[in-house]
Amino acid sequence: MRLRGEMLAGVLHGKEELRLERIAVPAIGPADVLVRVRAALTCGTDLKVYRRGHHARMITLPAPLGHELAGDIVEVGQAVRSFRVGDRIVAANSAPCLRCFFCRRDEKNLCESLLFNNGAYAEFIRIPGRIVECNTYRVPDHVDYREAALAEPLACVLNGLDDTGVGPGDTVTVIGLGPIGLMFVRVAKILGARVIAIGRRQMQLDRAEHLGAEALIESRRGSDPTDEVRRSTDGGRGSDIVIEAVGSPHAWRQAVSAVRTGGTVNFFGGCPKQTLVCFDTGRIHYSSLTLRSTFHHTPKHVREALELIARDDLHPADFIEAQAPLRDLVAVFQRMTTQSGRLKTAILPQE
Ligand SMILES: [Zn+2]
Ligand SMILES: [Zn+2]
Repeated sequence: MRLRGEMLAGVLHGKEELRLERIAVPAIGPADVLVRVRAALTCGTDLKVYRRGHHARMITLPAPLGHELAGDIVEVGQAVRSFRVGDRIVAANSAPCLRCFFCRRDEKNLCESLLFNNGAYAEFIRIPGRIVECNTYRVPDHVDYREAALAEPLACVLNGLDDTGVGPGDTVTVIGLGPIGLMFVRVAKILGARVIAIGRRQMQLDRAEHLGAEALIESRRGSDPTDEVRRSTDGGRGSDIVIEAVGSPHAWRQAVSAVRTGGTVNFFGGCPKQTLVCFDTGRIHYSSLTLRSTFHHTPKHVREALELIARDDLHPADFIEAQAPLRDLVAVFQRMTTQSGRLKTAILPQE
């Protein structure tokens, strides 16, 4: 099938300069596939790139934006054996090289030459061969495209939970209740943890409660929710595990003060460039704290994320609040900059 011609795509040119343009439908190489995008979800990372006009690792501008997608394969390169035209798929936004130091140590999220792919806010997207080979999955018939597209951000959350070692009976405190924080709440709950959720808005706390959080703490500007976390834990010890899902130095400090002696903090939210945070070394040393961070996902986590969605343990609709046609993309992003506390919007390029 030949599909050359033009398509509509959201192209980011610089800081807050997102334009809908007619560009060429991407040409594919022998190992690539071309996908008709059926759903692309908005994401905090895209919003960050939109606001800052750059991202060190993921994208070089000008470039088509968007990376959480599901769709139909409409063309396959002549060397592709694992997929066929007509397959419903979800393709991750990256693939590791499988050869470097980190890949050999099974730390594929840290691959020295992680290949990123962007351009999901478009009618079509090229999936490069490397992603076709190790990070593209068939979507089960009963899973909707919008639901399948959640696999990428959910994979980041699963990677974070793996790194942190959450298990049954643990108390897990999640700071920040955007879509990522809320996914942490839900999956920690599925893993059998007792969840304490800290958020700024009542609406977010209501969502966390709906997803299974047992204790809800409203964080007010300038206040420290640590005392409340301690009051909600056995013996006032603090939380076994704290996940920071805000990406601010203030929240990083709160995470360290809310964790119990011997506990683990995961600084999941990336702070603005060149941010410094000071910690009391005595607190970290004498309390034997484990402080760590998790970046991105691996193919294993993307596969597990899709399985979790297919099993219906986690409902993607809890993290997606709206849908919009591609022609409304710019307005959707403008709204995201002015209204925080929102969930994801599913962009539907075929409508
Ligand atoms: Zn994302
Ligand atoms: Zn590698």
